[in-house]
Amino acid sequence: MGKNAGWSEYTSSRGHKITFPLATIQGANPGSRLTVTAGLHGCEYSGIAAAIELFNYLDPATVKGKIDIVTVASVAAFYEKSAFVNPADKKNPNRAFPGREDGSYTEAQVYFLLNDIIRGSDFYLDLHCGDMIEIIEPFALFHTGAGDAIDAKSSELAFYYGLPNIIPTSFQGVWSDQGTSYAAAAELGIPSAIVEAGGNGVLEQEAADIHLKGLLNVLRHLKMIEGEAEVPDIGKYYADFKWIYAPVPGLWSNSLPLGSLVMPGDRLGCVKDLFGTVIHNLTAPVAGKIVFMTSAAAMKENDIILGIAMN
Ligand SMILES: [Zn+2]
Repeated sequence: MGKNAGWSEYTSSRGHKITFPLATIQGANPGSRLTVTAGLHGCEYSGIAAAIELFNYLDPATVKGKIDIVTVASVAAFYEKSAFVNPADKKNPNRAFPGREDGSYTEAQVYFLLNDIIRGSDFYLDLHCGDMIEIIEPFALFHTGAGDAIDAKSSELAFYYGLPNIIPTSFQGVWSDQGTSYAAAAELGIPSAIVEAGGNGVLEQEAADIHLKGLLNVLRHLKMIEGEAEVPDIGKYYADFKWIYAPVPGLWSNSLPLGSLVMPGDRLGCVKDLFGTVIHNLTAPVAGKIVFMTSAAAMKENDIILGIAMN
C-alpha cells in the first residue's frame, strides 16, 4: 500500500530515449487496476493538472486496487510547447498506436506506453483537452468494434465521466479512431475512453475540476474508492464524429459558435485569401453539434477546422 512517483525510462533499439512520469497508488485493498494518462498531447494542461491532482488527492488507505497515472505522456512535447505532435519526428502520438519498438521516436514512445504501462490494466482513461489552438465542449470518445462486452464497458467509462457529449468511434467510422490510445487499449481487451475538457493551451481550473470529478465518479463506479457513483444526467450519445478540414490555405472565419447545432448545408464559415477574397465557403456535410473548433484563423490546406458530433 502507498504512493510512488518516479520516472519510467526506456531506450529503444534505435536509441530513442523515452521517459514517463509515472505516479502509482497501490490501494490497501484488492480491486481493479486503472491506468490514467494525460498530456499525450503536451499542451493539454487541464488534463495534466487533473491527473496530478488525482495522485495527490487520493488516500491509498481508501483505494481498492491500483491506479497508475502517467501525468505527462509526451514530456518532450510538453516542455517544447509543441501542439499536436512530438518535436523529434513531428508525429501525433495519438495517431501512432500501437507503435513499434524499432520505429521513430513517437512510434517507440507509444509502443512503450501501451505495452509496458497500459497493457495488463483492467480499465484505461486518456485525459485530453482541446489542443493549443482548439476550444471544445467537453466530450468523451469510446471505441467500438472490440467485442460487445468491451464496447459496453468502454461506453460505461465514458458515461460515468459525466461529460455532456459522448461519441462512439470505430476504425471504419466516419472519423477513424485508428492509431488512437483508447482504440488500441480496447483492442487489447481493456475498456477505455478518451475524455476531453479544457483547451487553448490554458490551464483552466474549471476544466481540471471537470476531469477530477469525472475521474472520481468513474473510480466510484468501478468500486475502487468509497461512495456511490453519481448517475450523470447530461450525457448525450451521438452516432459518429465528422472532422472538417481546410480545403484551401488562407484565413478562416467561422459563422457559428462552438456548441451550435447544425443541419447539412448550414454555413459554417469561409476561407479568404490574404487579400480578403472569399475562396471557399464551408457548409456542414452532416447534422449534429459542433463540439470542437480551432481558435487559430491561419489555415494550411488540410488543417483541422472543427468537429461535429453527428446525430
Ligand atoms: Zn489531445
